[in-house]
Amino acid sequence: MLRSSMQNEQRRSQQAGLDDEHRWHALHVDDAAATLQSNLELGLSEEHAAERLARFGPNVLPEHARRSLAMVVLHQFRSPLIYLLLVAALIALLLGEISDALVIFVVVLLNAAIGALQEGRAESSMQALRRLASHKARVLRSGHEQPIDASDLVPGDLLLLAAGDAVAADARLVHGAALQIAEAGLTGESVPAVKDPAALAPDTLLADRSNMVHAGTHVTAGRARALVVATGLGTELGRIATLASATLEPQTPLERRVAEFGRYVIIAALVVFVLMLGIGLLRGLGFAQVFMLAVSTLVGMVPEGLPVAMTIALAIGVQRMAARNTVVRRLSAVETLGSTTLICTDKTGTLTRNEMTVTALALPDAREVSISGVGYEPIGELRTDGSELDAGSNDAVRELLQAAVLCNDSQLGGPDALDARWKPLGDPTEVALLTVAIKAGLLPAELRARFVRRAELPFDATTKMMATQHDSPDGCFVVIKGAPELVFELCSSAPGAGQQNEQSTRAREQLRASAHAMAERALRVLAIAIVRGGEIDGHAGYAAFAGRASLLGLIGQLDPPRPEVARAVGQCSAAGIRTVMVTGDHKATGFAVARTLGIARPGDIAIDGRELEQMSDAELTGQLDSIAVFARVHPAQKLRIVEAYQRQGQSVAMTGDGVNDAPALMRADVGVAMGVTGTDVAKDAAKIVIADDNFATLVAAIEEGRVVYRNIKKAILLLFSTSFAEVTVLLLALLLGYPLPFLAVQILWNNLVTEGLITVNLIMEPAEGDEMQRPPIATDEPLLTRPLLTRIAVMVPAIVLSTLGWFIVRSAAGIPEAQVRTETFTLLAICEWYNVLNCRSDTRSALTLDIFRNVWLVGGLLLGNLLQIAVVFWAPLASVLHTVPFGWTEVLALAAVGSLVLWVEELRKLAVRRRILRT
Ligand code: ATP
Repeated sequence: MLRSSMQNEQRRSQQAGLDDEHRWHALHVDDAAATLQSNLELGLSEEHAAERLARFGPNVLPEHARRSLAMVVLHQFRSPLIYLLLVAALIALLLGEISDALVIFVVVLLNAAIGALQEGRAESSMQALRRLASHKARVLRSGHEQPIDASDLVPGDLLLLAAGDAVAADARLVHGAALQIAEAGLTGESVPAVKDPAALAPDTLLADRSNMVHAGTHVTAGRARALVVATGLGTELGRIATLASATLEPQTPLERRVAEFGRYVIIAALVVFVLMLGIGLLRGLGFAQVFMLAVSTLVGMVPEGLPVAMTIALAIGVQRMAARNTVVRRLSAVETLGSTTLICTDKTGTLTRNEMTVTALALPDAREVSISGVGYEPIGELRTDGSELDAGSNDAVRELLQAAVLCNDSQLGGPDALDARWKPLGDPTEVALLTVAIKAGLLPAELRARFVRRAELPFDATTKMMATQHDSPDGCFVVIKGAPELVFELCSSAPGAGQQNEQSTRAREQLRASAHAMAERALRVLAIAIVRGGEIDGHAGYAAFAGRASLLGLIGQLDPPRPEVARAVGQCSAAGIRTVMVTGDHKATGFAVARTLGIARPGDIAIDGRELEQMSDAELTGQLDSIAVFARVHPAQKLRIVEAYQRQGQSVAMTGDGVNDAPALMRADVGVAMGVTGTDVAKDAAKIVIADDNFATLVAAIEEGRVVYRNIKKAILLLFSTSFAEVTVLLLALLLGYPLPFLAVQILWNNLVTEGLITVNLIMEPAEGDEMQRPPIATDEPLLTRPLLTRIAVMVPAIVLSTLGWFIVRSAAGIPEAQVRTETFTLLAICEWYNVLNCRSDTRSALTLDIFRNVWLVGGLLLGNLLQIAVVFWAPLASVLHTVPFGWTEVLALAAVGSLVLWVEELRKLAVRRRILRT
């Protein structure tokens, strides 16, 4: 039925020389709704929506096709090292060394399998997270407003839009209030387009279709209801982008640094390669043997496992953060979080619960009213001067609360058969106003029906006010509610102009003092004013009411701090991270909350947006260290704050939720959007999204970031210490005139299998627990820091001494060369296993760290041991790796000698722990 009417429409369009998608803007909105068989008041029913979803498919653009397993495996072979190994295998074949060639092939394949497995895992976890980060849309279905996944939108749905929302489909406006849409992504126009539902001429160009909103754009201001006309590939965006922009992650800074470092290592490896060839040939060894050895050493030196290990470390970090309520949108955020030195945090909802309860009213006649009861349940009483107040007979209170109900978009659903609780819907600041109105005996639904809303100026974080225009039997009026000092400005009148003005001036000053007193008690204060006979003019905005508004009073709300935040702030300061509050709320309110939570230390100050505006950059920099609260900031000022801290050398994490927060979120080192209150625009601009809006969750994400960074360092340490040791052993043996302690194939096996198995699993180490007791990681910290080099300097000699020492002693004892070599090759693996235990912590003893906290590593070690036993004791493998079996006494002796590296590291750790205790 629908299809046939759409086909009819298409036919009609084609007759008019236009295809169907180009005609929606030319139709009257009722005709558009009729064509789509939708209802402009109720929207679609669930059944219809489901049926259309099945017919038109989900509202998504085809993603970049996921790489097939074969492609992932093939990708593993695209490395110069692998080419080199294959050349070596070819040469071995030509020289008749069939078993060497075979080993190279097997090792290359095994290495590719380990790499592909890990990469596949990393990719799936990233895909799952991408799905998590997808947008939601609000629709009206069967008359009920509900959030759905944007991918479930269908033609005919009634889409509800508000500032900050991403538009998820193409839609025809039904009605809109001051709606502005940023369409740069689609039309290239950087100034937001003002939208209006009126029908347009059929030949209107896409960029001028002011009654349409399109997928891929977002709402910068206002609110609207729109009828979805096209989804998925049918949208304008779908037409220009057959493939969604590839969501390939750029390299993170650390990955770039590792890649750069890798290039130096390759140069060093080439030098060693030439050295080996030279010394080997000078010593009269055969070319084939020396060449194979040099190639193997080269492969051993290059940390080819590192990039894979890093990708896994980051992916694991992403997974762990997801488990702790953080969605990572940019991989680089994982490591940048670990370097965060300063957090600029919002107050409402992040530090506090965003559960508002009105506890006080202040009236123009200087009376204060206190209100009992907590939460949204409208049970409590209003008291003034110690006695209960009958709101019904008090005009001032009634008028104030009536206005608070009218200039309000929220709902408070009463208890019903299914749920005995009261159900808040909308902005908690506004729901709290409904609660207090009901406590005072008012009926919001009845008031809203009696004084119908005709126009509005929606709340926005820049104006910090909201206004609505209503009809009444005595003519229209406008209610304004918002930040007191801004509402007061509209109420100002010329001094001395009559007694009435004097009275209102006195009342205003009185209320100003009350507002301050309330804010000092950490209350969030709203002022409410009325303009009798006023009308809203979208262009003039609030300026039209200057001097015409009369104050009705103040409403103070309590928003308790989240219980876990004070501890999280403490954790941050122990971790060398400063916390600064950047709030839209009043200075006194913000400062009171900051003191309670330990954000403001003795001597710290709070400044507000105006003071900030008057400061030069130099003055601001001079004060930065003592400012704990930036209050009443304009979202645009957040950018200035971030930049000021960055100039100071801080690595800034900044939270945000509004549409205007996007520039600051993008500029911050880590932009953090709020999952619950955050707009799509903020989420798109941010690197991470905190699902529960909680400051403590952000701190947990920082901790995870530090764990990831630490694990990468552990892998670097393991890889470098073992490669250095191995090369040193070989070069020393060559220089001292000994036979080769290992054969080329054994080196290859050791590097690509034994080492590969433990490195990728070391990366899975859980937190050590002291991550937040250490200073932040400097962003420009070199990969091989001094402490890391010290450890390498301890580990390398220990491994060299045990392996080369064993080789020399056993050779001198007359043990056959093949056996000594097999023992030394096994000893090297044993040293690496001990060393991986060393690398798990830089200060804690490997003997006290529970190995089962990392079952991956246990698995890697077990598998490594099994494979080593197989290559020594299982004849078919032993013959390709040129090993010979040895006895159990040797096994025990090797286990003891190999532990040297463990003991020297234990000694070093002991010394470090002693030093820490002393300081
Ligand atoms: P933060 O930025 O820390 O989350 P906030 O939520 O208080 O702080 P905004 O939401 O920008 O910041 O609010 C700023 C001010 O605007 C509030 O202090 C209040 O005075 C006023 N305000 C907030 N919500 C509304 C609303 N719905 N209607 C009118 N005024 C409001």
